[in-house]
Amino acid sequence: MSPTLQDTTLAADVRRALQACGVDLTTLSGELEARSPLTGEVLTSLPATSDADVTVAIDNAHEAFKTWREVPAPVRGAVVKRWGELLTEHKEDLAVLVQAEAGKITSEALGEVQEMIDICDFAVGQSRMLYGKTMPSERPGHRLMETWHPLGVVGVISAFNFPVAVYSWNTALALACGDTVVWKPSGMVVLSAMGAHALLARAVADCGAPADIHQLVIADRQGGQLIVDDPRVALVSATGSGRMGREIGPRVAARFGRSLLELGGNNAAIITPSADLDLALRGIVFSAVGTAGQRCTTMRRLIVHESVVETLTDKLVQAYGTLNIGDPRDPATLVGPLVNKGSYDAMQQALRDAQDQGGTVLTGGNRVLAEEHPGAFYVEPAIVRMPAQTAIVQDETFAPILYVLTYTEFAEAIELQNGVPQGLSSAIFTNDQLEAERFLSSAGSDCGIANVNIGTSGAEIGGAFGGEKETGGGRESGSDSWKAYMRQATNTVNYSGELPLAQGVKFL
Ligand code: NAD
Repeated sequence: MSPTLQDTTLAADVRRALQACGVDLTTLSGELEARSPLTGEVLTSLPATSDADVTVAIDNAHEAFKTWREVPAPVRGAVVKRWGELLTEHKEDLAVLVQAEAGKITSEALGEVQEMIDICDFAVGQSRMLYGKTMPSERPGHRLMETWHPLGVVGVISAFNFPVAVYSWNTALALACGDTVVWKPSGMVVLSAMGAHALLARAVADCGAPADIHQLVIADRQGGQLIVDDPRVALVSATGSGRMGREIGPRVAARFGRSLLELGGNNAAIITPSADLDLALRGIVFSAVGTAGQRCTTMRRLIVHESVVETLTDKLVQAYGTLNIGDPRDPATLVGPLVNKGSYDAMQQALRDAQDQGGTVLTGGNRVLAEEHPGAFYVEPAIVRMPAQTAIVQDETFAPILYVLTYTEFAEAIELQNGVPQGLSSAIFTNDQLEAERFLSSAGSDCGIANVNIGTSGAEIGGAFGGEKETGGGRESGSDSWKAYMRQATNTVNYSGELPLAQGVKFL
């Protein structure tokens, strides 16, 4: 990746990276614009997939499924393995695209591609471990077992803030499980999608697999809805806002399809009196400010014991004052831009609401670098002291705002932590083992992710990833999430020569 701005232009870097990934540059013209949040500039124009072609993509994936489901799972895994190799080879190229479109600092953009490589490894292993159980039958001379089978076409709808990683969780597992994939990325990060898709196309070709097992559609919500409503799409895996989940979930359910929803978070950390405050400080700053507050797992609430709140907030305000905000290609930068003006406006509105609801802004919230880049939205991350968990604190504002609340009794901290509609990620910083255990217990954090002495963001791919309540309940990656991409069948084999019925029922 280019470490400096002087020797090159963003658009030229992007074109080079696309070409290196195998994207045909002659296809880059059309009615859509790919814009970079780094500068606000238009990087290129693009063609949109027509509604008719979205349906063709589903047709193709549906046809390809009929062949793909019969390919032995470890052979399917070989395609994913090759994809992982190509992603490793082109890690920097794809990271250039992620950075240009999502505004991530270099290390986080590279980390996003590394996450793809990691899930490929995981899915390759999984392709040899699609285990079913055998259980004792209550009838003599009978075998009772469960088997797992490919599900069908998986529709992947993804968010802007992880342009390629979350899609790769779905796709690596779905392909290993024998499914085919139709992907609709966010319209804000289409070039990254084209790069990742081109690398998968190469892997598929290198392995001699059917070309149509993966399809990319460049479409808006309407195109997404064609995927959502098509009964041939067995599973819709959708990542995005609660608003999107509320629209998609019932539509898929209405046709008895399956959905896997990964929606917004409102993640908190509890800081207890025994916490190592320096460790907590580092964990908080990374989780609250990383990716400019645009991660689903971004720390948005801090629930601090009243005895340490002044010390901690002083340290935090000081640390925020040292953050380098600016072009994410600069290795010294820690905070890149918000994705667009809509995000900036939402942040400003949230800060006004917070103050109307009794909050005090301790630091941040201002726009910076507006003169250099009038079309880009760089902001100082904000810390806001709140008197209570008011309406604005209950909302996910997708920007770097950290609300600070205080507690006296530990039970109160857990109540605050759980007292929001979302349930994605949570953390406690404590050196008191009893508090840590209570936080992790069934009466503790109600989130899909609960951490001790580590922040709320930056999950590894090995553990199941997802959240509860309005976060949607999906587990797209890690652990035994592969089961979401397969259908389960129970088989009873009778080798007794008799026909005994279950529960001792007599008939004929
Ligand atoms: P968004 O909801 O605006 O869009 C997400 C995707 O859904 C896009 O591809 C969009 O085109 C599509 N979409 C929106 N409405 C649709 C509809 N009615 N039918 C079909 N498709 C539709 O979200 P965003 O702004 O791109 O991303 C930010 C949000 O995503 C945040 O809320 C964040 O917390 C969430 N997110 C969650 C996770 C997670 O794993 N839980 C991961 C990343 C992002």
